[in-house]
Amino acid sequence: MKFLQLLVSSNIFVAVTILSPGSLPLGSLLSGLPFNFVQRFGVQADSRAIAQSCPLPLLDRLASHRIAPGETLADIAKRYKLRPETIMGLNVNARSTVLPIGETLLIPPFNGIRVNVPPGRLIRDVAKQYKVRADVLFELNGCQPAPSTLFIPGITWSPSYDTPAIVPSSVLKFTFPLRMAAPVLTKFGFRPNTRLESHSGVDLAAKLEAPVLAVAPGTIAFAGSQGPSGNLIVINHPKGFQTRYAHLGSVAVKLGQRVSEGETIGTVGQTGVPSVKEPHLHFEVRSNTKLGWVAEDPLPWLGMK
Ligand SMILES: [Zn+2]
Repeated sequence: MKFLQLLVSSNIFVAVTILSPGSLPLGSLLSGLPFNFVQRFGVQADSRAIAQSCPLPLLDRLASHRIAPGETLADIAKRYKLRPETIMGLNVNARSTVLPIGETLLIPPFNGIRVNVPPGRLIRDVAKQYKVRADVLFELNGCQPAPSTLFIPGITWSPSYDTPAIVPSSVLKFTFPLRMAAPVLTKFGFRPNTRLESHSGVDLAAKLEAPVLAVAPGTIAFAGSQGPSGNLIVINHPKGFQTRYAHLGSVAVKLGQRVSEGETIGTVGQTGVPSVKEPHLHFEVRSNTKLGWVAEDPLPWLGMK
């Protein structure tokens, strides 16, 4: 019972601090808490969390609800004192007009959304983006230094919060950024030797001065020298995409210029600080999400995976 009291009080602390005024009536939240804890989380799982002096990530301790015949999303939301959007955000199967009977829904203890955190993005960046306290976000998500998924309290879900909320690479394909097929020198993601540093694009082996082509129609958002990227071209494409071409030898386009698919925009070079010595094109694909431009693995977009 002592555990339980501790947990309840620590959760009240979290609940009080995270919810901005007006997001939920505080009284209903506080009165609902002891029930939440006994009923939904169980004491055993949380005693482990106490040992680590931080609760388990909220997303690891969601309750579940089995959809009964005739039940509507509004019924379920009301029962758990949640907004329907909160349940829709966490459960793809709750987004259709008729709920699938017998299937399970994940139920959080209060309103909020789940977001994917791109590599390299810190909790404090996400906190700033959603105007919530970073320390609260950190604690609520299990005090992990670099979580890939976060629960953000007090935010109402909408379809645009899903990341990436874009056309999948299985549907849309880009033209190859070089005239000839090229082996991949460095893949997207973590480099084998430097585990802390992630590679935000792919390195495609190419001869120096080989033409670099726009992979899709778009508008030049940057053209010039930029630190370690060397000579860099950034193209904004329709449907919330961006592509980047780094370490170029020459740049043949200007800011604001419109380019067509397959158009030459520059040449392969060795400017800036390339990740490998062999001449290559560093190519990136980014999608526009609520967290800003998020780098994606370019290979599926080039039909190489
Ligand atoms: Zn690279």
